[in-house]
Amino acid sequence: MSVATRIFQQTTFSKVAPWWLVVIFLLALGSFSTIGYSLDIVQIKEGENVLTHRGRILVQAVDGGVLLLTPEGRLLPLAPAEIVSVSRDSVEFKAAPSEDVARWWLTQLPAGFEVYQTAHYVVLHNTSRDYARWCASLLERLYAGFTAYFTNKGVTIEKPEFPLVVIIFSSRDQYVTHCRAEVGDGIEKIQGHYNLVTNVVTMYDLTGSGGTATAAQISRFVQNPNVQQSIATVVHEATHQLANNCGITCRWTDTPQWVAEGLAMFFETPDLRSARGWATVGAVNQSRLDRFRSYLSRRPDDSLVTLIRDNARFQNTETALDAYAEAWALTYFLLQQKRSAFLEYLKRLREKPPLVYHSPEERIREFTEIFGDVDDLNAQLLRFVSRLR
Ligand SMILES: [Zn+2]
Repeated sequence: MSVATRIFQQTTFSKVAPWWLVVIFLLALGSFSTIGYSLDIVQIKEGENVLTHRGRILVQAVDGGVLLLTPEGRLLPLAPAEIVSVSRDSVEFKAAPSEDVARWWLTQLPAGFEVYQTAHYVVLHNTSRDYARWCASLLERLYAGFTAYFTNKGVTIEKPEFPLVVIIFSSRDQYVTHCRAEVGDGIEKIQGHYNLVTNVVTMYDLTGSGGTATAAQISRFVQNPNVQQSIATVVHEATHQLANNCGITCRWTDTPQWVAEGLAMFFETPDLRSARGWATVGAVNQSRLDRFRSYLSRRPDDSLVTLIRDNARFQNTETALDAYAEAWALTYFLLQQKRSAFLEYLKRLREKPPLVYHSPEERIREFTEIFGDVDDLNAQLLRFVSRLR
């Protein structure tokens, strides 16, 4: 789980050329231009050839590097050295239709993948069709639960601009082999991941059938209490994707990791008994609560400050599980007890300029502006958690 988060936070930067840092620096200075919604055309050199990319330029640095949002919803950083020309068409940028998105992703996958499409998801799989169907149905129910939760709280949920792509490999081995370069060696410990850059959730057939699971086998599998955590992982990664595609958080602005993870864990309690609904949104996440309670005996006085000010605790395997548990507790507390302030905070985060990253001091200042003194809030959090059952 922590590795999945590391990907979630860092994949954005994994293909970062040095110019990228220049962009970030220039953005910090305010000497950048963000460009609107017309169709941008960027030609790049690739060996002897010139390739044309069409999309929406999110950021253009003064050195000429751009961050391009492609019609499939991918983020493409293009360095000035490879760019031949940048121009703009008078037509509007539009997301590609699901069929085109599916076709593009099939070119990136090994042979034998099929498409299973639902209202909001494009599932690309080489598992059994029954497994793809079961998974897509779980995801559609999460979508319904997620959007209903926020809509009921008065938050406008955006319809995803891009089809939500989910890739399912028929076996863990295939997943590990295909995704090792993208994820790193941490791939061995995870069951799925969401990549902010590609906007895709990737996972594998959890039943261990190797891609032959029937509906009957899946329903027996789901009833096994030992697999609940694995299913929660699927839901967790899918929630990252939903939050970033429904206007709750933004892929190219600075979302503190405690917020991204706190939201994913808030929805991590799947309702597997219901065929349609998702009655368990907002239920206490018992495993996170247990972990937080066990952390209390060794929890430093400044624990909330270290959680909020930067992402360091999430990125250290020694401290990650406690950080996750604390992020769940804080998000749960804020959504239950200080909802309008938390929703205001989310709005502020997603409205920031792209690729501007706050210093620890700025993060604390912004948090305090919205929620008040951190020590007071910490006392309230601890009282709240002590009453949870
Ligand atoms: Zn996560």
